[in-house]
Amino acid sequence: MREQPYRIGVIPGDGIGPDVTSEALKVLAAAAPVAGMRYELIEYPWSSALYLDDGVLMPETALEEYRTLDALFLGALGDPRVERGVIERAVLMTIRLGLDLYINLRPVQLYSATLTPLKNVEPSDVDMVVVRENTEDVYVGLGGTMRRGTPDEIAVAEMVFTRRGVERTLRYAFELAASRRRHLTLVDKANAIRAQEIWRRTLEEIAPEYPGVETDAMYVDAAAMFMVTDPSRFDVIVTTNLFGDILTDLGAAIQGGLGGAASGNLHPGQVSLFEPIHGSAPDIAGKGVASPVGAVSAMSMLLDYIGEREAADMIGIAVKELLSSGRVPSADARSGLTTEQVGTMIADEVRQMAASPD
Ligand code: ATP
Repeated sequence: MREQPYRIGVIPGDGIGPDVTSEALKVLAAAAPVAGMRYELIEYPWSSALYLDDGVLMPETALEEYRTLDALFLGALGDPRVERGVIERAVLMTIRLGLDLYINLRPVQLYSATLTPLKNVEPSDVDMVVVRENTEDVYVGLGGTMRRGTPDEIAVAEMVFTRRGVERTLRYAFELAASRRRHLTLVDKANAIRAQEIWRRTLEEIAPEYPGVETDAMYVDAAAMFMVTDPSRFDVIVTTNLFGDILTDLGAAIQGGLGGAASGNLHPGQVSLFEPIHGSAPDIAGKGVASPVGAVSAMSMLLDYIGEREAADMIGIAVKELLSSGRVPSADARSGLTTEQVGTMIADEVRQMAASPD
């Protein structure tokens, strides 16, 4: 057991963020003693409410403090009363870029055939991980508009890929594939967007260093189709920031909806951030019906990342057991259970597992 307690930063955020974060922490509190791990939570107040009340946004100096932590957990950000993007840029984008979290990792796993909108698909058909590049592409913000508001208006956004950014993402994906079913699919649109050919060239160049991993490359339109018609063909998908953004929401839909999906923003070996993939869901905020499954799964990813595999696996198995048995019928607002009830059920399942490990 590690001598020092882990130091985990927590940003509950807006809307349903604080509700699902409470449940993720409840489950962490159940798993930690079983796995013999100690931790300390450092809570940060960054949210739209704080911005509206006091005009305070997360200062960039907070990054220095984050670098001393073992990991960060984020609930959700965004509030219809604040201009779209303000709070997300101040917190999420600042952390992603400031800590150089160049991998966005999104597992897509189906726990029960009843959860997916796809026909004739079994849980064993859907088990993939999307590795999305997280710092480049159109998200670098290069571009602008000319002759705004006139019939001659021009709007431009540059898609940026660096050899360094592409290579480190591909290497991470190769290593991940080597630890799974050893199949890596590169998804791009290199036929129409010539700049994306850098991905194919780099893949071909470094592939010989990973002889155990089989690779293929696919255009994003075909990948979207196959995710729906034949998801079993995917193990690890590696893709650009923009395509990853879109494909991972499709992945979430396939696994049963936004409420159940989790992600990690990683800089392997350094402090990284974990979050459910859903937003603040203003339509259901305060109603107590948000599913905490995505947040709890993000906590499991966090634990796995910091090396607490036992705690991570227990949480993963508990979530899987509750969803596959139907005791938690869905990971959306229509499960008939409250946010708190689902969190408590997962925590209880973890404790029971510990009491009877077989
Ligand atoms: P963002 O741009 O921040 O991702 P968004 O409005 O596109 O925000 P969400 O806030 O994630 O996306 O909400 C999209 C839909 O999914 C909403 O109808 C919301 O109620 C639903 N939803 C999101 N998260 C959950 C959850 N944890 N449980 C139940 N329903 C959810």
